[in-house]
Amino acid sequence: MHPHLNTDSDDLAALLERAKTLTVRYWEHIAAQPPADEPPMPPQPAILPKHGLGTAQALAWFEQHYAPHMAASSGPRYWGFVTGGTTPAALVGDWLVAAYDTNLADRHNSAAPYLELDAVRLLRELFGLPDTLHGVFVSGATMANTVGLALGREWVARQHGHQTAQDGLYGLPPIPVLSAEPHSSTYKALSMLGMGRRITLVSRLVDREAMDIADLRQRLEQLNGQPAIVVASAGTVNTVDFDDLAAVADLREEYPFWLHVDAAFGGFAACSPRYADRLAGWERADSITVDAHKWLNVPYDSAMVFTPHLRLQSEVFQNRAAYLPAVSDEPDFFHLTPENSRRWRALPAWMTLMAYGREGYREIVERTCALAQALGERAAQSEYFELVWPVRMNVACLTLRGDRTPERIAAFLAALRDDGRLFLTPGNFGGVSGFRAALVNWRTTEADLDLAWEAMTEAAQRV
Ligand SMILES: *Cc1c(COP(=O)(O)O)cnc(C)c1O
Repeated sequence: MHPHLNTDSDDLAALLERAKTLTVRYWEHIAAQPPADEPPMPPQPAILPKHGLGTAQALAWFEQHYAPHMAASSGPRYWGFVTGGTTPAALVGDWLVAAYDTNLADRHNSAAPYLELDAVRLLRELFGLPDTLHGVFVSGATMANTVGLALGREWVARQHGHQTAQDGLYGLPPIPVLSAEPHSSTYKALSMLGMGRRITLVSRLVDREAMDIADLRQRLEQLNGQPAIVVASAGTVNTVDFDDLAAVADLREEYPFWLHVDAAFGGFAACSPRYADRLAGWERADSITVDAHKWLNVPYDSAMVFTPHLRLQSEVFQNRAAYLPAVSDEPDFFHLTPENSRRWRALPAWMTLMAYGREGYREIVERTCALAQALGERAAQSEYFELVWPVRMNVACLTLRGDRTPERIAAFLAALRDDGRLFLTPGNFGGVSGFRAALVNWRTTEADLDLAWEAMTEAAQRV
């Protein structure tokens, strides 16, 4: 055995102490550290060592060349995209995932799979979903959307007497996919699934991103009984608008379609009585996407897909081999998602749910929403900013007053990033260029809002 493997294994406690010191240093300074480092320092390229350096030296290299330039993107003022952080409990859980390094493909060789089933049960409870929905972890909402759409594709094919899982799409007519404000990952998923980036865009309600149900009905009517897939939004990325999920689900009594609900972060509306009714009807979906690395605040990468169609799911994703257990009524995880070998993603999710519970998540959701709304109010009254759309939940869509060309917006965002107190990403809101602040990180407080506001005002004065 390589001597470094031996000595590193013997010195594990000391090595982990060093990693712990580095972790705690990052953790304690996260609020003071810039959320984005731009332009990033090109780190020192390494050369593959012939004999290896040992972990202590490798860590020293990392500490010297990478650690100083790591941005605090999991800190309290990274409001770009929809970016969560990691709670203390989730971090502890994730460390243990690597330590146990268990392959969560099958259900039968350790206690680990039971924890995934338990985590899914806790999540269902948090979301108020019925236990007829089976859940399974995947790497992110893109993959959860891919699973949901793969099931929808199979379901549609079977209405035509086909099985895409066996025979592919050959000979099938194009599958109609309808949506009003699909997330970009929906197009990616459709591309991967051989259906092409073809979505029929349903009209939206006036001044809203939510689906016009009358238009959806008309488009379904025009399909003349042809089976379809409807992708509904439970939380659009800009205005966090929700389709009327109950009304969409009702239409299935008249028209044949698979209902997929993308609730990547909007699913967390269920955590607060203030917002939960926006999800009314989502429990009737055929498949549901919820991200965990956003509002649940577990480390990347983690999401869940829920569906009541367990048999169909195992028929699409089954992975048969002589040495593998066959598909049963309680299929192994590798029969349910694109992955075969799988990380034990359930542990950090389970740990954080157990540590902070229903009230913990209600508080995070309500606090981040209140802060986004306060930001919107400040912007609406300011001489530098405008609120483009009302803040529905946790995202504020803003722009500059006066000249709001994409060039000036870009200059503003660059000035903000260089200032180092706040990170925002650009957006286009119905033809208006602007920028978004999306709040889902458990650390963000009123004090962060004050700091962010100062930084924004100063940056706006400079451009
Ligand atoms: C973030 C997001 C996705 C994609 O999620 P990933 O975790 O990046 O794969 C899909 N849909 C919605 C609504 C999202 O907000």
